[in-house]
Amino acid sequence: MLENVGHSALYIHVPFCVRKCRYCDFVSYPYNESNARLYVTGLRREMELRLGDKHEKRWPLSTVFIGGGTPTCLSTKLLLEIITLIKGYYNLSSDVEFTIEANPGTVDAGKLSSLRLAGVNRLSLGAQACSEATLRTLGRIHTHEQTVSAVWQAREAGFDNINLDLIFEVPGQTLTEWERCLEQVIDLAPEHVSAYGLQLEEGTLLKEQVDSGLLQPCEEEDGINMYQAAINILQSAGLEQYEISNFARLNKQCRHNLVYWQNEDYLGLGPAAHSRLRRVRMSNETNLTDYTTRLNAGMLPVAWSEDITQENDIFETIFLGLRMTGGLDLERFKQRFGRSLNEIYPGLVESLVNKGQLKLRGNHLCLTPAGMLLANAVMCEFAPV
Ligand code: SF4
Repeated sequence: MLENVGHSALYIHVPFCVRKCRYCDFVSYPYNESNARLYVTGLRREMELRLGDKHEKRWPLSTVFIGGGTPTCLSTKLLLEIITLIKGYYNLSSDVEFTIEANPGTVDAGKLSSLRLAGVNRLSLGAQACSEATLRTLGRIHTHEQTVSAVWQAREAGFDNINLDLIFEVPGQTLTEWERCLEQVIDLAPEHVSAYGLQLEEGTLLKEQVDSGLLQPCEEEDGINMYQAAINILQSAGLEQYEISNFARLNKQCRHNLVYWQNEDYLGLGPAAHSRLRRVRMSNETNLTDYTTRLNAGMLPVAWSEDITQENDIFETIFLGLRMTGGLDLERFKQRFGRSLNEIYPGLVESLVNKGQLKLRGNHLCLTPAGMLLANAVMCEFAPV
């Protein structure tokens, strides 16, 4: 089977972690070497099936993102095999953004240096918190000291584009602790920070602990104050907010995530990976055995797919576009859908502008600071009825 699409973003899902974090509902399995080998063999087969047997290299990829799970719980050897596969099956543009996610507890100087030498040029470290108590509440396997040392080792290895992921609104976390953590993070001089409010997901240990009264959730007001503190402290340190939860130095925005927020096509490979290709959304088998069985039978491991209706495409483009502080590009929107936003939703933009939740900046429609606090409600005004 040959794919014939023009996506320029590739996501590889690595479904292994050393241990499950207490808040996590992502697809990941405990790491073991034989499963990791099976997985890499599956990945090779999936690339073959996607591209045909001729090793056709059709589209230069402008972004590659190896995420998970914890990609860096794989050995350096297996990680290099994956990178070699990617380079063997795809053309990478000369200025490709090539990211790998890493847990600070699963990297060392040698691994980071090998990744950098192999062409990975962006490191996304799951720091999450700085206080040991909060790291324990989250069930992370690493300490803040390991985060600091991972950043230093990454700099030594030549990484000049480092993201640190952070979580706020964790049970037991105080505003003072969060502000101190933001300062500690700034001391590490990352090029990019993602700061997400904790979502208590069904089926996670943390949700159970909160539901049973063992842990007290953060008050809503504290969550708002923590979010505001992130904006103030990170922006004062030169990390401009460019998306609801993301901050970057000049020209260091995550280009891969911009593909998602601009609702463009991307290909996802690996168990549980999602793709969006030519108005079809699909996701792969989540279970490693199902994933490899399908591939061994010569079939793509797609477990679910859905055509994206134009109505949903429009809504998703608005919803995702408004997440960016630069806003939704109205000209691009009109080119893509053949109609202006005003033609599709007469009067709605004007009414949200009058309420102070949206503002027009040139050709872009953006959330105001007040609108950002109510982001989901504002975006849902555009939901198809
Ligand atoms: S390291 Fe990430 S993917 Fe793995 S269990 Fe923790 S939060 Fe989930």
